[in-house]
Amino acid sequence: MQVLHSVNELRAAVARLPRPLGLVPTMGALHAGHMALMTASTADNRSTVASIYVNPSQFGPREDLSRYPRTLEADLAKLEAAAADLVFAPETPEMYPPGFVSWVSVEGPPAERLEAERRPGHFRGVATIVAKLLLQVGPDVAYFGQKDAQQLAVVRRVVTDLNIPVRIVGVPTVREPDGLALSSRNVYLSPAERRAATVLSRALRTAQARYAAGERDPEAILQSMAAEFRAEPLADLDYADLADPDTFQPAVQLDDRTLALVACRIGATRLIDNTALGGTHS
Ligand code: AMP
Repeated sequence: MQVLHSVNELRAAVARLPRPLGLVPTMGALHAGHMALMTASTADNRSTVASIYVNPSQFGPREDLSRYPRTLEADLAKLEAAAADLVFAPETPEMYPPGFVSWVSVEGPPAERLEAERRPGHFRGVATIVAKLLLQVGPDVAYFGQKDAQQLAVVRRVVTDLNIPVRIVGVPTVREPDGLALSSRNVYLSPAERRAATVLSRALRTAQARYAAGERDPEAILQSMAAEFRAEPLADLDYADLADPDTFQPAVQLDDRTLALVACRIGATRLIDNTALGGTHS
């Protein structure tokens, strides 16, 4: 497994890899969720490139960029075990050369509500870095987690709008046995906060259960989701929402593909989660 830091070295090495080629973009601090993306890529492709880059431009000024977990040695061991052929781990001057001013700015749905509203500039940072990684690596397929469903929709939009020749695959969310979605940010939680964090997946299961029982009034389902958060004193609800999985506009007619989405603060940590009402993402 090669570990490379510059775009020139990367391009030369990628040119020698057998096709089809899969790309798994990450910010490191790898866990079993990231490994599911690796498993999907190595199953589908003859070669897999993983990237590790904590992208400053997708963090807001009051967000956790400086304390974001950085575990490069352990990450490389996991990627080696997962049969990555190449790891691209650039430093910031490589990704944002001096004088950098060219951004990919997603200016409408699906980058309008929810995370786009709460984290101004976040999707501009994500879209720019993902577009750059796709141009640098030139994969046949790129893998993203359904855990970050709005990010997945934004990436699909960018690839369509900019005619980037790649197939985007969404990989189902990997969860702890008690339902908590794996996240690099879970390490911030105290034991009590960790117990409280099950409220996110509980609220999503409640939404699914009401839908499965025949409820089709969005407001009724949103009320049930919010009630789960009111019952958990350590969690401060940011949003509970029902949205179209492609546009992230509010869902009017609920169907199996409709996403239930939640975001909350638990202490200093902000967590998000989502599920399709019908159980599996489309
Ligand atoms: P991150 O390192 O947090 O930027 O995540 C890198 C990729 O892993 C993104 O496409 C995430 O959506 C995905 N990912 C993060 N957590 C999970 C999870 N629990 N299950 C599946 N994919 C995940």
